[in-house]
Amino acid sequence: MRAPGWLRRIGRAADRTLLDMCYPEDAVCLLCGRAAGGSALCGRCASMLGHDRITGAEEPDRRAVWRYEGPAGVLVRRLKEQGVAAAADVLAADMAAVLGEMCPEDGCVVSWVPMPVRRKSERGIDHGEVLARAVAARCGLPVRPLLRRKAKDAKTQRGLGREERLRNVRGAFEAVSETPAACVLVDDVLTTGATLTECRETLLRAGARRVILLAACAAEGDGTS
Ligand SMILES: [Zn+2]
Repeated sequence: MRAPGWLRRIGRAADRTLLDMCYPEDAVCLLCGRAAGGSALCGRCASMLGHDRITGAEEPDRRAVWRYEGPAGVLVRRLKEQGVAAAADVLAADMAAVLGEMCPEDGCVVSWVPMPVRRKSERGIDHGEVLARAVAARCGLPVRPLLRRKAKDAKTQRGLGREERLRNVRGAFEAVSETPAACVLVDDVLTTGATLTECRETLLRAGARRVILLAACAAEGDGTS
């Protein structure tokens, strides 16, 4: 026996409410909180994100996909501050496409800039790792940790100029295992690029021949990298 229309409509609404309560990130747009029809973003926010892409690159092996000041920055903060993994998946889709344009070698290993141990224990997740794993999964590339922060690096990059940042992170990282010939380093925000540049230098000294730097966002202001 088929339930009457009004009962089915109430049933669907109740299902939706239950789904929203159990899986709020799946049910609504990550950016605006409106219904997203089962997608991570609603159509309007997906199109805003698409329009906020940075075109071109200052150097061929260093790319940031979006401006930090737009919707991508909001997704980065949802990942970083609230641990919303679905935000990493949205960012990773376009980051993987950009990585594809940079022609990574077969067997290229994807990795990330490790966050300071103290901050990781406060936040519970290393958002750089979550992002790197999501990008690697999209590209079908292997992913593993390649770098470790040395104990001396405890100072934040926040509030420092480019030269100070470079000095602050010099010698802050070391390779943790055998370094592959080709690597991709994923990070959330590229500000002056001091941290990513130091990580690349560390991997080149450890034997890498090519290190691609791929960030979700480029910030004009005071980010952390
Ligand atoms: Zn939306």
